[in-house]
Amino acid sequence: YGGWADKFYGDVIPVPTSHLNYTRREPAGTVLQITPWNAPVFTCGWQVAPAISMGNAVLLKPSELTPFTSLVVGLLAEKAGAPKGLINVLAGLGQTVAQAAIAHKVVKKVVFVGSPATGVRIAEAAAKRVLPCVLELGGKSANIIFADADLKRAALTAQAAIFAGAGQSCVAGSRLLVQRSIYDEFVSMVATGAKKIKVGSPLDDATEVGPINNRMQYDHIMKMIASGVQAGATLAAGSAERSAGGYFVAPTVLSNVTNQMDVARTEIFGPVVAAIPFDTEEEALTIANDTEFGLAGAVWTNDVGRAHRVAGQVNAGTFWVNGYKTINVASPFGGYGLSGYGRSSGVEALYEYTQTKSIWVETAREPAATFGYL
Ligand code: NAD
Repeated sequence: YGGWADKFYGDVIPVPTSHLNYTRREPAGTVLQITPWNAPVFTCGWQVAPAISMGNAVLLKPSELTPFTSLVVGLLAEKAGAPKGLINVLAGLGQTVAQAAIAHKVVKKVVFVGSPATGVRIAEAAAKRVLPCVLELGGKSANIIFADADLKRAALTAQAAIFAGAGQSCVAGSRLLVQRSIYDEFVSMVATGAKKIKVGSPLDDATEVGPINNRMQYDHIMKMIASGVQAGATLAAGSAERSAGGYFVAPTVLSNVTNQMDVARTEIFGPVVAAIPFDTEEEALTIANDTEFGLAGAVWTNDVGRAHRVAGQVNAGTFWVNGYKTINVASPFGGYGLSGYGRSSGVEALYEYTQTKSIWVETAREPAATFGYL
């Protein structure tokens, strides 16, 4: 984003009058950024960098569950020579501190990363001041596996897609859509792999999946696993029992899930994947799009035509073909539907962090009279 700072400029528009008409991309002013507890360093850098590169100041309100990393980033920015007041970190609760910040006249735009329910409250509060928002919300992404795919790679990646970070990831591949002819074989590959993943303390080098961030989230995940089993899903890997000595959740694979079950509709935000069978490409698309969310998704196939057809028809802001979870600062990221609006990262983030001014300069020697008397 440092590289973009002097290369994101306005246009000269060939208007049909005697004017020079050009645009300037101007900063919004102070941008309030409200972030969640998962990946706090990433989320902070992801939003702060494009904002300051376009000349905005930042008021960062990290999650009350993970404020320290953002506070340290603020201190390091000051140490690195950023002007005092450019990056401000305001720790505290959302319903008090973040709401007070939205109401304050210094704030000119709100960028929110978090859950849809909070996103609605933030957009309502921002609307009272006609503040523009970017909302980066949750997901229930479909990872679609066709029978002609490279099943070994797909099974490995399906595990990374949902179990990395203990599933506390907005783009997690939480719905695994598998073509019926390979359903049993593929789900068994994923479940066998899931059972081998080492769950434990993040300070132990051998650990592959750590605990859940907080008690509320842990309770929610355990409740969702129990609800899946009660609704008729099969526990192919994982456990519905609570763990002793920490908020550990074993990588969980629920098979024989239908897309109507709560485990296929509600964001679990934990290491729990719901495996749903499908027969045809049309059915896979129908199931993939039968969700309020639209953050991400993937298709696994060796049929190039199908890969592009499916990529073009799934309602999601990010989509992978024969892969999962690759993101990059140069590429736009954001949601469709309940997953939010506006874009973070890529050149699109620079549009979010600027507003356009159109400037008209009269160039005619004797401009035509418009209206009025002297
Ligand atoms: P959350 O909505 O509970 O909290 C996020 C932030 O909002 C926190 O800073 C919190 O203090 C604040 N907040 C809470 N209530 C508020 C209120 N009434 N008014 C103003 N601010 C308020 O979300 P969370 O549990 O911290 O994070 C998990 C969620 O974030 C998941 O839904 C996940 O999918 C989503 N997420 C989305 C992305 C994305 O880019 N789309 C990235 C990461 C996480």
